[in-house]
Amino acid sequence: MLLSKVNYRLFFNQNCSLCKCYPACIDGLCEGCHADLPWTLFACSICGLSRCHPSQPCIACQKQHFAFDQTIAALEYRFPLISLLPSIKQRHSLHHLRWLAKLLATRIKDLDTTLPDALLPVPMHTVDQLRRGYNQAAVLADELGKNTAIKVMHTRLCKVKRTHHQHDLNADQRRANLSGAFSLRGKLPKHVAIVDDVMTTGSTLHEIASLLKQHGVERVDAWVIARTPQRDHD
Ligand SMILES: [Zn+2]
Ligand SMILES: [Zn+2]
Repeated sequence: MLLSKVNYRLFFNQNCSLCKCYPACIDGLCEGCHADLPWTLFACSICGLSRCHPSQPCIACQKQHFAFDQTIAALEYRFPLISLLPSIKQRHSLHHLRWLAKLLATRIKDLDTTLPDALLPVPMHTVDQLRRGYNQAAVLADELGKNTAIKVMHTRLCKVKRTHHQHDLNADQRRANLSGAFSLRGKLPKHVAIVDDVMTTGSTLHEIASLLKQHGVERVDAWVIARTPQRDHD
């Protein structure tokens, strides 16, 4: 018996997660929306900023040492991410993380890089997480874990100090703000990836990567959906 149109959609495909047209044929999006996303092309392998030369450390990264070894960002933090990602935090539109995680997982697989042994979501302070009701980085890490078959460690990394928003601060203030903000519990594998939705200055990921390396982790990758395009490092 032929499947009805409704059943066909249920079993084989879905509507595009952005424009709602049918069908969503690539990672939950239609071809047009997928092609129009602000893809990161020719990004620096360490800081993830778009550069002229693909996969090589940029001049800034050759001068300044980030504690993480590699950044994989699927997209640049521009339209539609600039409205979509805050909406995930503010309006609980968590379903968007599903297709965004698929898209990032596809990018990671395409890069043919050595995969980490565990994923560590950037934690929120308990008070902030209770207020919001969830940590979007943890939800993203779970979706990435499903797509890559890598285990997610939710309790190894904790945020023990409440911090101010980084973008309001200068470089010295950012360092002071993050100092002592995170702590580790239990054993960790030698190669991990820290997972977050957006990488802006890289300060938070640097702070966490420094802590991980002080505790014996040998390689730390940063996996983010989007990277803020900018010329200067903090
Ligand atoms: Zn679409
Ligand atoms: Zn760089």
